[in-house]
Parts: sequence; C-alpha cells; structure tokens
Amino acid sequence: MPATASRLSHFTESVIRAMTRLSNQHGAINLSQGFPDFDPPEPVLAALERATRGPFHQYAVTWGAPRFRQALAAKITRCSGVPVDPDLNLVVTCGSTEAMMCAMMTCCNPGDKVIIFSPFYENYGADAILSGADPIYVPLRPPQFSFDPDELARAFASGAKAIIVCNPSNPTGKVFTRAELQFILYLAEKHDAFVITDEPYEHIVYAPHEHVYMNSLPGAADRVIVCNSLSKTYSITGWRLGYVHAAPHIIAQARKVHDFLTVGAAAPLQEAAIAGLELPASYYAGLQATYTAKRDVFLTHLRRTGLPFTEPQGAYYVLLDISSLGFPTDTEAAEWFIREIGVAGVPGSSFFREPEHRFIRFHFAKKEETLHAAGERLALLANHPRRA
Ligand code: GLN
Repeated sequence: MPATASRLSHFTESVIRAMTRLSNQHGAINLSQGFPDFDPPEPVLAALERATRGPFHQYAVTWGAPRFRQALAAKITRCSGVPVDPDLNLVVTCGSTEAMMCAMMTCCNPGDKVIIFSPFYENYGADAILSGADPIYVPLRPPQFSFDPDELARAFASGAKAIIVCNPSNPTGKVFTRAELQFILYLAEKHDAFVITDEPYEHIVYAPHEHVYMNSLPGAADRVIVCNSLSKTYSITGWRLGYVHAAPHIIAQARKVHDFLTVGAAAPLQEAAIAGLELPASYYAGLQATYTAKRDVFLTHLRRTGLPFTEPQGAYYVLLDISSLGFPTDTEAAEWFIREIGVAGVPGSSFFREPEHRFIRFHFAKKEETLHAAGERLALLANHPRRA
C-alpha cells in the first residue's frame, strides 16, 4: 500500500472539533468549540434571504466579490483608522483558518522558523507543519500571560521569518498592550520578519482593556499581515468568511495561494455579509456589552466551583484549573466532564507546547440560559467526591 505523506503524522485532527462530536454524542452542553447558540443580527439574516434570489450562485471574483471588499475595506478603516484599498490590500478567504494558512504559505519557505506563543490556538501548529515551517515556541506565563522580552528577542535572533500574534488571544483571553505590540514590531523590524496577526475577537474586549490594531502602529505596513474573520463579530461561524489584509506586494502573492487552495469564499454569503459590515458603531458597542454580561454570568457560576480559572480580558474563553480533581490527564478530565457533569470543554493541553494538563478550556458564547444551565451543572464540582 502506498504511504500517505509523512508530514501528516506530526499532528492529530483538531481536538476542539473532536470534543464537539463527543459532546453531541453524549448530549452535553457544548462549551468546547467556540461558536454561538444565538442568531446573527437580523439585517444579516434578511440580507441572506435576499441573496438567495440574486445573481450570486456562481463563483465570485477569486480574491473576493467587489462589493464585499468595498464594504470590508470601509469597515476596517472605520474601526482601525488604517486606510484600505479594496483592490490591493485584501484577499477574502474561507474563514480566518484559510487566511492563516494562506499567510503562512505566503511568508514561509520550507524550513523557515515561525515564532508561536504558547498557549496558542490549536491550528497554528498544524499550519506551520503544512506550510513547511518550523515552529519556535515562546511561553506566555500565567497569570498575566505575558512574555519574557529577552526570551522573545532570542527567538527572533535565532532567525525567525515570522511571528504569529493572536490578539485578543484564544485560549488565554489576553489582550496585548500597545507597548507589547510595539516591542514585537520593533523586534520584527530589527530581524526583518513578518508579523502575522489573528484578530477574530477584535470586538470582544472587556473594559478597561482595549484592542490595539497591530497594523495601525508606525512601521507596520510592510510586514504586518492581518488574518481576520467575520465569524465571531456577526455570529456566523458556519459561513466561513475571513480575509487577509496586508500591503499590495504581499497580497499579490497571497492571492495566488488562495486561488489554488479554494478559488473563493461562498458568493451568496459574501453578498449577505455586506449587511453586517455596514452596521453602525452601536452594533459593536452592543456586542461588547452582550459579551461582558455573558462573561459575568459564566464567571459567577465558575466561582461557585471553588476552582481557580483565568479571567479573560478579551475573546470568550476561560481556562479552568482542574488540577485539584486528581485526573491523570486533562483529556480524561474533559471526557469525565462530558459524561458525568454534562458540560463539554477542550483539554487545555491541545493549546500548550509544554506538557500542561492543568486546564480545561470552556467558552461562553452562548445564550444566558445556556450559561445558567451549564453553570448549575459545573457548580456540582464544589461538593463533588473527587475534591479531596
Ligand atoms: N475558534 C473556535 C475555537 O477555538 C472555533 C474553532 C474551530 O473549530 N474553527 O473553539
């Protein structure tokens, strides 16, 4: 029998998506894979209905339907202040997942080194392997999940071609400060490296923290490649709409990668999502208030468990420290949570380079009633016989 490619033996299928399947099998409340159980904004749903009857059933322009790119460029400039030419600075992709793969394949030759902070969003390890890059991991240390500047400087000095910065960060909830981003950019300039950002939670940030757009910093234009998505902002994770935003000479190359990977993102969905991109500033303020309330509900329930957990500054994930429950591995713990408690999370080890089995990641992008139901179940941990 012919052997399949050896690079595929270096990573597993997504643990996040596997936990969703396990949760569904057991009928648990699914707080593992981060997606909402509530509807997108009404104008987006109405636009989707209209789009089904329009002339949008064939391929859109490979790098994005013109009207979608115009609306996207205007929205990006309104939010970040960065000028965007819709014809030169954007490639529309199938989610930020494709955007990240596209960015990595655009930047890296086989054997190039890419800095990844650990913990990291699960996809980055696989992205590095599939694009032929060698990851260098730099730890983000709890409780603030800050990095050691000297350690990061050494990682750049070892010949890094690029760094991936997920901001706000999945799974830690860290929101990078302006000073941290400036320092990363300073090192990237010094060592002539790319900075690939992943910013799908740009609008899910909790006061007093604020999202700073890396590409709005002076000196960013030629080396920052933004990967982003509409999934979280408009509650449309299943639409798979994302984009790469970078300087024209980078985008000219990224378009080629995207073209041969997927040809393009779904045309009717691009048309419908324009209604989201045109929503007024009050929509984003409302989204932030909604998620702040969800965070407060969920953290209040988690406090009742008596277990320590991370308090997110942004995004919608919490790392619950389950070390006191005495499980040999977090995978066994996560399976037990699904079967015995009826709430699904993701074993934290899938986000760490280090052998870290202390955490289960839960997310709170759910209706408040779902969060209350999950919270009641999790509160059973307070008096559970597993607690010594
Ligand atoms: N970003 C989400 C998470 O971390 C969804 C991941 C996915 O399945 N694409 O859970």
